[in-house]
Amino acid sequence: MVNFVGAGPGAADLITVRGKYLIENADIVIYAGSLVNKELLKYANQKCRIYNSALMTLEEIIEVIADGEKNNKNIVRLHTGDPSLYGAIREQMDILDKLNIKYEVCPGVSSLFGAAASLKAEYTLPDVSQSVIITRMEGRTPVPEKEDISLFASHNATMVIFLSAGMTEKLSQKLMDGGYKPDTPAAIVYKATWEDEKIIKTTVSRLAVSALENNITKTALIIVGEFLGDYYKRSKLYNPKFTHKFRKGE
Ligand code: SAH
Repeated sequence: MVNFVGAGPGAADLITVRGKYLIENADIVIYAGSLVNKELLKYANQKCRIYNSALMTLEEIIEVIADGEKNNKNIVRLHTGDPSLYGAIREQMDILDKLNIKYEVCPGVSSLFGAAASLKAEYTLPDVSQSVIITRMEGRTPVPEKEDISLFASHNATMVIFLSAGMTEKLSQKLMDGGYKPDTPAAIVYKATWEDEKIIKTTVSRLAVSALENNITKTALIIVGEFLGDYYKRSKLYNPKFTHKFRKGE
């Protein structure tokens, strides 16, 4: 049996109870060494075989899984954050389907949410933004033309940008070209929930300067939007005048 497990954003105790249980009961763990906290490997039992996927190709990962499966082992494939975001799990699952190897997916806390917690922020504020755009700049992996950041920027919604901390100058330009005002609040959250986490509050126009000043080129999210500012309207749900299924308004 194979379990794809979300390791959470960084802090070892932010894995789910289920994820921890799966590691404790694993005979083989293949973890994404670039971003998964090694503290999590302490949950594994002493006989567990541990592989760092940062040093492996897809083919090598599948070989370890297929061999483990043949020997009836419990296998955990440990991905950073939640496996459904930039996790490259689909290509693994499709091969496992072909090999008739069963698997499950255990969700994790994405860095997207780790960063919101560190910022003590709410992404969806009434009268500010009710949507979160999760995206990235083009790197080695191309981004479809219709998903260019400058197109998304026209919405002025809350935006969380992965995998782009090394491209802040171009990013900043695209955000402004697309319609964010230069002084729109922005944050660079480096290693959210890790011990060496850094939070930099800045603006869309100053993203590149702020990244440079703080020497940040990777393992960070760029988060943009007026939700980082002071203005919003209070919720209807907790308004004394508002009636709903569980409470009658004044
Ligand atoms: N599946 C992961 C994302 C993997 S892609 C998730 O759900 O979080 C790797 C990118 O995620 C990094 O380049 C960075 O942009 C972001 N990232 C991962 N962990 C992070 C953390 N603790 N703090 C800030 N950004 C992080």
